[in-house]
Amino acid sequence: MKLPFAESYKIKVVESIRRSTRGEREEWIKNAKYNLFNLKSDQVFIDLLTDSGTGAMSDKQWAALMEGDESYAGASSYYRLKDAIHDITGFEYFLPTHQGRAAENVLFSTLVKEGDIIPGNSHFDTTKGHIEFRKAHAVDCTIDEAFHTELDHPFKGNIDLEKLENVLKKYPRKQVPMIIVTVTCNTSGGQPVSIENMRGVRKLADKYGIPVFFDSARFAENAYFIKLREEEFKDKTIREIVREMFSYADGMTMSSKKDAIVNMGGFIGFRHKEHFEAATMYNILFEGFITYGGMSGRDMNALAQGLYEGTGFHYLETRINQVAYLGKQLRDYGIPVQYPFGGHAIFVDAKRFLPNIPKEQYIAQTLAVELYIEGGVRAVEIGTLLADRDPDTRENRYPELELVRLAIPRRVYTNNHMDYVAAALINVYDRRDKITKGLRIVKEAPILRHFTVELEKI
Ligand SMILES: *Cc1c(COP(=O)(O)O)cnc(C)c1O
Repeated sequence: MKLPFAESYKIKVVESIRRSTRGEREEWIKNAKYNLFNLKSDQVFIDLLTDSGTGAMSDKQWAALMEGDESYAGASSYYRLKDAIHDITGFEYFLPTHQGRAAENVLFSTLVKEGDIIPGNSHFDTTKGHIEFRKAHAVDCTIDEAFHTELDHPFKGNIDLEKLENVLKKYPRKQVPMIIVTVTCNTSGGQPVSIENMRGVRKLADKYGIPVFFDSARFAENAYFIKLREEEFKDKTIREIVREMFSYADGMTMSSKKDAIVNMGGFIGFRHKEHFEAATMYNILFEGFITYGGMSGRDMNALAQGLYEGTGFHYLETRINQVAYLGKQLRDYGIPVQYPFGGHAIFVDAKRFLPNIPKEQYIAQTLAVELYIEGGVRAVEIGTLLADRDPDTRENRYPELELVRLAIPRRVYTNNHMDYVAAALINVYDRRDKITKGLRIVKEAPILRHFTVELEKI
């Protein structure tokens, strides 16, 4: 008998979660203004809002916390983290930050000015937010295949090199401070970018003299997909692939809350001393002195350990298989989901799930609310609310895809929990014809509105 797949860890500490009633949930979500970010966590049974900072640290990470050096300057924890980052990514210089968007804030303060153009593959929401806050523009150059949810393509996070070159030809070099490659591409469904594509981007970047930065929150999951899907790398280790990936970048921003499996933290990696030195002032201004930048010593220790654990093959195999385990159940039932499955989440195609809801009524948000009411499962909208309004016209931007993301925290839930999530979504699917009315906005913020938006049922 072929041995079944099993998790590459066992459980040492547990945390209780509570199942609520449907009546309770209807009341709670109404009081939360139909915004799942407004729910209290104890009103949620299975929390798939995000895989960010929600992972379970290992015994070794908890042990590393105890050894944290809280010296203001020159802490040993800083050097431990610096060595780990250099070892894993190859970057010589780095600045710690309190999370990923803080890394973006520091880097963009250094390099981005009003009117700039920043091409990339479906920039993440905080990335786009930081670009537009500076009155610059993010230009999406993702391959068209990414927007067909059922189309089988091994690297749907890839940049369309023709689209990229058109942008680089159109604008003068001084107006394009960087190209951003997001690995894996969160917004288009946790989809990976191939090494071949990174090489192509590098070549264009060199031709036009523009630096490349990787938005690297899920770089390890990206490397795992490269190992599985890109022939040249099938015999390489994850860490060898990671080094190869970053060899095509001039630097990286990192949300350590994702693939480094810590609850808080981030950093910027730099290849060039000039970039590092220019960013140092902003890091001190916004985050803290360069040897802690928004992180305590113990947190830097846990992060250094997490970088190694997050790039272990067996850990990644467990993780990606759990995501696929959920995805397969939904797909087998006929629920429209992004395929191939992404690294950190399953993305449900809400437009095809709820064809009766017009786009003006926030299709994906409507589905996320229904899933919560059905089973106490908290997912998140990746659709019109997330896309924000156009900064110039203030009109809603309707993205090609209306997705509900079921993000799986790292090392937290079992496959029984995945069975429960699948059953809840299947129940909503079975009654989808009766869901004919969506939501309308009562109150919203000008940028990153999805976090605080207030809605009501139509
Ligand atoms: C999470 C994330 C960020 C922002 O990081 P935070 O730690 O949440 O501030 C940036 N880019 C990508 C691709 C992310 O997934």
